[in-house]
Amino acid sequence: MILVLLGPPGAGKGTQAARLAAAFGMRHLSSGDLLRSERKKGTELGGRVGGYMDAGHLVPDNIIVEVILAELQSAKREAGVILDGFPRTVSQAGSLDEALSRIAQKVDLVISLQVPDREIVARITGRRICSTCGGVYHVVKHPPAQPGRCDRDQTPLIHRPDDTEDVVQQRLAAYHAQTEPLEAYFRRKGILVEVDGTPDADSVFAELQRMVKQRLGEAVS
Ligand code: AMP
Repeated sequence: MILVLLGPPGAGKGTQAARLAAAFGMRHLSSGDLLRSERKKGTELGGRVGGYMDAGHLVPDNIIVEVILAELQSAKREAGVILDGFPRTVSQAGSLDEALSRIAQKVDLVISLQVPDREIVARITGRRICSTCGGVYHVVKHPPAQPGRCDRDQTPLIHRPDDTEDVVQQRLAAYHAQTEPLEAYFRRKGILVEVDGTPDADSVFAELQRMVKQRLGEAVS
């Protein structure tokens, strides 16, 4: 199964993708995490994408398409893949469809998490991340037990440089201009469902789990 999670930055795609991947034995592929890991390792690719990311712009389609398609190749043997943060433009979606059709596969389900801009800004500017386990906290809504440290492994939490208010506004602008049109693209294919992303994470997860189970059931029958 190939599942795409759509939604603005901070809609909860990463959190929900990780939980769904654990529940269904699927591979969680986050384009943002892949790029951040390249930067951390100091690779040539990491160097090429850093400027775009820090400014809140999308990296060029050809770069990200190459990275994701290579990862998809290596995920072939898993029960399925959850794409988080990719595709983000209609052109990326076209490249994905083309690559999947070459291996007789397709995107099965696209879930778009709906969260208003005002809520996104509040969520992202207060977000803190553990660079060791990927745990996500919020300074007000979900603070760690010990201020500034991950509950699981005590790693100091980081405020992503692109999680500041100015950059969030730029990322939202990129989302509305370049990513939102993907909803129409996938709706036309009859595989888009919209989910309210504003309730608590457990309620959203229950709804997503129900949708994935339903889609898996349809695929079997
Ligand atoms: P994310 O963690 O998904 O919010 O991604 C962080 C940043 O990585 C984005 O603001 C972009 O600069 C870059 N990025 C991640 N995924 C993509 C993509 N599919 N296309 C272009 N840029 C991306």
